[in-house]
Amino acid sequence: MLSESKLIKTNQFNKKSYFKFLNSFKKLGYNFISYKQIKKKNNILLRHDVDFSVDLAKKIAIWDHKQGIKSHFFFQYDSPFYNLGTHKNIENLKLIKKLKHSIGFHITIKNFNTIRKDLLIFEKFLKVNGIKIDKIFSIHKIGSKKYNIKIPSYQNFFNFNSLGIYYSDSGGSFRFGNPLNNNEIIINKSSFQLNLHPIWWTSGNKIKKRNKIKNIKKLTTKIFDDELNTYRLL
Ligand SMILES: [Zn+2]
Repeated sequence: MLSESKLIKTNQFNKKSYFKFLNSFKKLGYNFISYKQIKKKNNILLRHDVDFSVDLAKKIAIWDHKQGIKSHFFFQYDSPFYNLGTHKNIENLKLIKKLKHSIGFHITIKNFNTIRKDLLIFEKFLKVNGIKIDKIFSIHKIGSKKYNIKIPSYQNFFNFNSLGIYYSDSGGSFRFGNPLNNNEIIINKSSFQLNLHPIWWTSGNKIKKRNKIKNIKKLTTKIFDDELNTYRLL
């Protein structure tokens, strides 16, 4: 076991340990590359599903860029927490693209018949605002069925290139085990997908779900507070 593998067992998953964690793969000879350049060996597709905050996604995009990493951000067009159409978020998305990351949609399956049309409309909306979306998508929640979902002309990132190895830290813990304990990774250097949600650790070291949710609440209510403070009331 690599010493870095202990990082994700402790409650110290913050900016510093995030960098350390990513660096441990670099030390093994891995590169974090765009899905357009993926090869069978030594590559990692780093993915971030954005469930709560475009501002935080921008922050992570800057962190990743500073590490020389190309990552993939998936945004919801129907998020209950953020609005992709605000001036600020359009600027955030532009910056993420400028940093050479990829942007796709993080979709919720409500009605299969309308999903492709939804994607085309929102793709167009972003295009007129100067943002070119990549033809990739990931699926919000709904368990194992997500591997089989196909949408014409878009690629499902869950089974991208049949990489076969997938790790995710959903909710701040690695449910499928620790990638730094997998010989297919540390010895064979097989390419794989790493799905990280740094929002669960950007706001401190609190490990309890209750505390994590409290932090997310603080972050999302701040958006409303800032907006409400711009009103001039008599
Ligand atoms: Zn999600």
